Amino acid sequence: MKKTTAKNERRSISSFIFTKRSKYKSLLLILLSCVSICSMAQYKSNIAKIDRSTWPYKIDSASEFDYASQMEMLVFSWELNKALKIKNIDSLKQYLRIKSVNQNSIYEYSRQIKGMILQNFKQLDIHPKNYHIKLSEINSWNDILTNANNLETKLPTNLLAWYNNSSRFYSKYVGEQLRLAGLFPSITSEILKLDNTESTGVKFQDKEFLLSFDDGPTAKGGNTDKLIEILKQYNKNAIFFVLGKNFETRSKLNGNENLKNLYRGFKIGSHGNIHKAHPRYQAWKHSIAYTDSLINRNINRTVKYFRPPYGQRNSKIIEYLKSKNQSVMLWNIDSQDWNSKINSKEVADRIISLMLVWRKGILLFHDIHSKSKYALPIVWKQLEQSSINWK
Ligand SMILES: [Zn+2]
Repeated sequence: MKKTTAKNERRSISSFIFTKRSKYKSLLLILLSCVSICSMAQYKSNIAKIDRSTWPYKIDSASEFDYASQMEMLVFSWELNKALKIKNIDSLKQYLRIKSVNQNSIYEYSRQIKGMILQNFKQLDIHPKNYHIKLSEINSWNDILTNANNLETKLPTNLLAWYNNSSRFYSKYVGEQLRLAGLFPSITSEILKLDNTESTGVKFQDKEFLLSFDDGPTAKGGNTDKLIEILKQYNKNAIFFVLGKNFETRSKLNGNENLKNLYRGFKIGSHGNIHKAHPRYQAWKHSIAYTDSLINRNINRTVKYFRPPYGQRNSKIIEYLKSKNQSVMLWNIDSQDWNSKINSKEVADRIISLMLVWRKGILLFHDIHSKSKYALPIVWKQLEQSSINWK
């Protein structure tokens, strides 16, 4: 049950768009479900993965982190620029594998991203070494593209494998992002904000990151407990967005002291009572209020942040949260740890690459899945001396 809900986190977006209009026609439903399943399978296998061992240098000093960050940002920007050249609406639909594309949202997303990447370039403090590639000055998005365009010709042979890998990775990653943007706001997600009170992590300081875990807690002694042990071992904090139903089950089985001890020292937020897209769930208000009262009553903690299942929310939900002095917390770095097509090492590599590109933010994981407890120690060890501020 728990596994199914988390796996549906992204899948539902694919299936939702196909099933929305097919409510009254059973034949069409069967046909579209088939299309939907095919689309899900394709989407699942199409997630961006990278083997970071092709990057030949370390990233565990601030300067080396910045050098790697510069190179990743160049490749990302180039791939984004390539994708944004697709202007024909049918080609865009085909590229994003969706039936209806909101081009305004894609424009708004790309406008924001270009600003962020440009800002990130200004943060770089690279102490040149003899193997560092020198760039021409960057003051605009076009300057970034000029440098990205010339990059391939400047690459030493030991960076060719990285470059090819990285290009493939960001090509797919840009596809993931633009797909979400193209669906927004008919399907909301972390890709754009609906309201200024929402946080995604992009307003953090440079090199500030927050770990977040959804869908728990698991049964006593399960993955949530094991993960928390590892976080303590590495002296890292995190926010857990608990699902009211799971929280209540564990409370009934193991008592509230067990839950108090489990989450002691960690931040806690609400993921609602059940894992349903709240804009389409009649009892959404009860789901939020009930989970808040469970957390408050059972472990004496006040909820400040709500993370909507699948990232889906609407203005009513946002206004209701405001009335309770709460806000939506989304994410900007999706680990894809629920996805069976990616293993723990690949999750670690994906996270590191995205941390190098975004340089700040909220990382999304699921404590009901086991990958993060193997992936995160890899990330922490590689970035140990790189002055990352884990919030
Ligand atoms: Zn979830």
